Amino acid sequence: MTEPVELGPKPDCPACAAWTADHKTGRYEPGCEDCMARAIARSPAAWLMVTAQTDVEIKQAVRRAWPERSGHGRTLVWKWIELLGLKKAAP
Ligand SMILES: [Zn+2]
Repeated sequence: MTEPVELGPKPDCPACAAWTADHKTGRYEPGCEDCMARAIARSPAAWLMVTAQTDVEIKQAVRRAWPERSGHGRTLVWKWIELLGLKKAAP
């Protein structure tokens, strides 16, 4: 069973709204998937992956955040990595 992937920040999430207004905000809302994905995309684990050093840490972070749906989490994290301009294309 696959659930549809929510694209774009959730309109009812104050932290995502804050990010839309100011990309430098460090706010994250508990329970918001976009916030979780944004937090991982901004973490050292993501930096290690986009700089082709290791993807072990980001895989662990995604599995921790989405234990049952790591594929969905990976899609969301990649969306944020691209939104944040860290990498142009998913591998
Ligand atoms: Zn959010």
